[in-house]
Amino acid sequence: MSANVHKTLDEARRGERSVLAEAGAKEILQSFGIAVPRGCVVTDIDSVPAELSAPFVLKAVSATLIHKSDAGGVRVGLQRDELPGAATSMREGLARAGHALDGFLVEELAPAGVEVVVGAVRTAGVGWVVMVGLGGVFVEILQDVAFGVTPLSPAQIRDMLAELRGLPVLQGARGKAPADLDALVGLIARLTGSGGVLDAMPADITEIDLNPVIVSPSGAVAVDARFIVQKDNDASEPVPHGDPVPAREMPFEHLFSPQTIAVLGASGQGTNGGNLFIRNLIDYGFAGTIVPIHPSAESIEGIPAVVSLGEIDGVVDYAYVALPAAKVATALAAGAGRVRFAQVVSSGFAETAEGVDLQRALVDTMRSVGTRIIGPNCLGTHSSSGRLTFVPEAPSEQGRVAVISQSGGLSVDILRLGESRGLAFHSVTSIGNGSDVKAVELLEYLLDTPETTVVGLYLESLAAARDVLDLLVHRECSKPIVLLAGGRTADGSRAAMSHTGALSGNHRLWPALARQAGVELVDSLDEFINVLLAMDIADRSIATESFDAVLFGNGGGASVLAADALERNGLNTPTLPEPAIERLNGLGLPPGNGLLNPIDVPAGSLAVNRGGIAEDILRTILEFSSPAIVISHFNVGIIQRNLAETHGDVTGTLIEAIARARDSAARPCHHFLVLKTDGKPDTESQIRGYAKRALALRMPVFPELEDAATAARALLRHQAKVASRMSRSPQRSFEHA
Ligand code: ADP
Ligand code: MG
Repeated sequence: MSANVHKTLDEARRGERSVLAEAGAKEILQSFGIAVPRGCVVTDIDSVPAELSAPFVLKAVSATLIHKSDAGGVRVGLQRDELPGAATSMREGLARAGHALDGFLVEELAPAGVEVVVGAVRTAGVGWVVMVGLGGVFVEILQDVAFGVTPLSPAQIRDMLAELRGLPVLQGARGKAPADLDALVGLIARLTGSGGVLDAMPADITEIDLNPVIVSPSGAVAVDARFIVQKDNDASEPVPHGDPVPAREMPFEHLFSPQTIAVLGASGQGTNGGNLFIRNLIDYGFAGTIVPIHPSAESIEGIPAVVSLGEIDGVVDYAYVALPAAKVATALAAGAGRVRFAQVVSSGFAETAEGVDLQRALVDTMRSVGTRIIGPNCLGTHSSSGRLTFVPEAPSEQGRVAVISQSGGLSVDILRLGESRGLAFHSVTSIGNGSDVKAVELLEYLLDTPETTVVGLYLESLAAARDVLDLLVHRECSKPIVLLAGGRTADGSRAAMSHTGALSGNHRLWPALARQAGVELVDSLDEFINVLLAMDIADRSIATESFDAVLFGNGGGASVLAADALERNGLNTPTLPEPAIERLNGLGLPPGNGLLNPIDVPAGSLAVNRGGIAEDILRTILEFSSPAIVISHFNVGIIQRNLAETHGDVTGTLIEAIARARDSAARPCHHFLVLKTDGKPDTESQIRGYAKRALALRMPVFPELEDAATAARALLRHQAKVASRMSRSPQRSFEHA
């Protein structure tokens, strides 16, 4: 930055101002190649240089005035001879309102165009958060804004602009000439890109608002610039945003397949969490060595105990620690150099104000002895191939879905609900406070291991999500990542001086981080499970290009609702081509069926010919159209109750017919199945059985159409992302903006 820029900043820091002088702020912008109006600051209005040409904008310069126009401190569109009169009345008006005037900023009028607000605010753990929106009611009333985090590439800025409902205004709605979007993208990139304005700002500049940037058909000009200085912000302290995790050895295979497990904190007499952990481990078929550590007990749960970790020969891959917080560090230090991973489930650490120092001390001690900590304040790690678990009656099936959770309780819910839906886990790791092993480190390992197909994240901290973003921008990754975020409510608590600050609640930041990282953000635990299931089971080698779906099932009303659910999720149900409809008409179905898409056929017709009709219908669909996905939905209650006696196992027959049609199709596409209940207990248990059969045929099964629709959206979106990443040129530089 130029010497002048440093002068501007120093002046602001010395003085009473909480805001940089507008002219100085604009000078900073200009030094980064951002267009600002030509202008000058004068105390004598007659001294405006001749090189500046009318029409002019006259603005008050005053340390006490932040929103100039609210107080009458801006006059737009003045001729040179109008300046003295306007200056006098502005000075008088502001004096009446109690503002002392230091002078005037006289600027040339920017070419007319659309007013856009571009703002940025520093956010703890995340870094600079950037907002863009259209000016006036769009931002203030409709809150039609898009968020991102730095550094932003021109492509990411375009993605943000594409989120604005008001974008057509910029593109030239109602016969107006389109605004120069490239210039706007370039301006935002110079502010937010790497090496841009935000990157260069010292830590005490905490908010920047360019309100407005005027985007005309011939360019983008920042006509107002507000840089907010926070005096109490220690300029020497770097603002934390995704500090890179120091490169360390990550032998996570020892965590997921431990040979020796030590248990600290199980009781010699009674039953506590440590004892239950040992029992669960044995029940789950853990085949390695379990060593209870206890100062006095001879044996625990029938296994000989050892006095301290120091007494064990060889390496402990995993120590499960359920001791009181204050005793953890000493007990683990006794095993210096021998314990690979210690899962500290104890609470009383940094989740409480009193435990912050204790956690720091624990981490420091463990760093010095070479043990990696998972937790504290967590529940445990479940690994199906390693037969390691912390829950009773743990899901036995070995699968490929890996989950990392910042919440212990939720990790149990994920295991249980997931199992009931047919999800087969590779692992579920609850990392609690994440004092040492971070979500991002585990994620990196799990993305690299061929034993997983998809990784689910439950995160509550934006800083952890920022780490994930920083990891993913540096690596190409086609394995899907599904993010369930806790704490997504609008938090209006921030006392912010800018729109950006006021609007940048967590509910906006999670989607921005997810979009930039290319992960699938979901809204609920159910959706998390649905999307994980779809990503795991679906054959992602099938290249899908569209968001076109075919709906097939029984029930007219259900079909209409199903089409609505798809539309809400951004999927289309295009009408089938004429030859397909002709062929379907020839199948001899009873009249009145919807055969255009949705295709609805009464259960009775589906039952005839042992599902032969269903197979014919699907074969026809797949021969004459190429949807990305076929979603078949059946009301199992109705089918079982009305047809079982006469036609036998209709649902099972239908599942097999779908699989046959799918497997013989020349153009493959995804197939999802929705098995709806009528709420009767026997139907529910039948559905569980059918779901198993369908999953064995690699067909994801969902309880409701809405579930299938959100999962389909996530799957197709992920595939589109991977496809576009592969086709995108590796170099997308600033110049192309
Ligand atoms: P405020 O402190 O009230 O935000 P601004 O500097 O943003 O003051 O000016 C108020 C309005 O005047 C802007 O929103 C814009 O519409 C218009 N304006 C300000 N400067 C210029 C300029 N140089 N060219 C064109 N319009 C301008
Ligand atoms: Mg303004």
